[in-house]
Amino acid sequence: MVDDLYPLGLRVRGRLVVVVGGGPVAARRVRGLLAAGATLRAVAPALSDDLAALVAAGVVEHRARRYKPGDLDGAWLVHTATGDPAVDSAVADDAEVSRTFCVVASDADRASAWVPAVTRSDDVTVAVHAGRDPRRAVRLRDGVAAALEAGELPLRRVRPPAEADGAGRVALVGGGPGAPGLVTGRGRRLLASADVVVVDRLGPRSLLDTLADDVEVIDVGKTAGNHPVPQERINELLVEHARAGRDVVRLKGGDPYVFGRGGEEMAACRAAGIDVEVVPGVTSAVSVPAAVGIPVTHRGVAGGFSVLTAHEAVGDVPGGTDHTLVLLMGVTRLARTAEALVAAGRPADTPVAVVEDGYGPRQRATLGTLADIAERAAAAGVRPPAVTVVGDVVRLAPDWRPHVAPDRVVSAP
Ligand code: SAH
Repeated sequence: MVDDLYPLGLRVRGRLVVVVGGGPVAARRVRGLLAAGATLRAVAPALSDDLAALVAAGVVEHRARRYKPGDLDGAWLVHTATGDPAVDSAVADDAEVSRTFCVVASDADRASAWVPAVTRSDDVTVAVHAGRDPRRAVRLRDGVAAALEAGELPLRRVRPPAEADGAGRVALVGGGPGAPGLVTGRGRRLLASADVVVVDRLGPRSLLDTLADDVEVIDVGKTAGNHPVPQERINELLVEHARAGRDVVRLKGGDPYVFGRGGEEMAACRAAGIDVEVVPGVTSAVSVPAAVGIPVTHRGVAGGFSVLTAHEAVGDVPGGTDHTLVLLMGVTRLARTAEALVAAGRPADTPVAVVEDGYGPRQRATLGTLADIAERAAAAGVRPPAVTVVGDVVRLAPDWRPHVAPDRVVSAP
């Protein structure tokens, strides 16, 4: 564990940095420091050719001998890379006494400062420390550099709208069920470069904390039975902001097209002539059951699944218990839904799971059968958001046995 590392950007222009040593490592440090405008003193009996050239050009002071106490006088920072651990150690000791931060090439433990792996792009500098492993830092740095080069990271400066080159764009981004790690890479990149983000109540709201302060966040979150911002108005907001030249991300829970009205938002943007991209998301219909160990299909148990809202006529779907039903919304209507399913011919002992707040702090599965799930859910105080799963796959939930009468337990083939 490295818990005493405090990253800092040093502004070295015009400040004296002493480099002890004259080999390739010292040369690399000197070049980097000169590029940042530092004043350099090299202490070494012999210098590599490129260091010697810098001395000859008058940009580096050279003390052509071994290190002596006093060589650090006036320094803001010291690098020692002599190839001789005893000398490096003596330099580190002297630097400690004079309270000058010191990088020690031969011994990270003796150093009071470590050099990160760095990549730059324009005015952006990314510095990586990776524990004690400089190669790992370099590999990570290379990954960041490649992503920067590929335009995958939001390098773009925020433009004032007045300078915008005409219309902005809208991206309907499926945010997944709420865990920040379950958003696609494309979705995250668009979010990182958005000027305006229009969010729902569901979805990965914690990602909003990663936005820059000047990104406008518009919360159109709906709560059950209460629609603070009508869909029409949401459509208008997307169009208005895009017309003002802004890049808009409509961050939605799950997948934009699964009971998410993404189709309507897309149509509204298209009708207004706005560029619109749809980024698929991990739908709660599949992922929330998975969060509690229920696969929506399973060989020999369920060969298909239907996703419905509990508001619809649920009787019109394939009837076998080997066809999984996934019901979104409508958790308050569970009793009526269960009755309707039994009336349509499903056995009353068909297993049911109600999964609340998948991937969230309140995640919980309430298990039962069509006959008793409404009662069990009421007793447990089940609240939205929740996904209801109906069918034999529910028996695969690790929690199935303790909660349900043992005579109804069958094991998966
Ligand atoms: N487009 C979304 C669904 C929108 S409808 C998707 O693909 O997931 C909203 C319903 O999704 C909620 O009423 C609830 O049934 C379900 N839902 C979304 N996220 C959920 C979560 N984290 N936990 C439980 N249910 C969730």
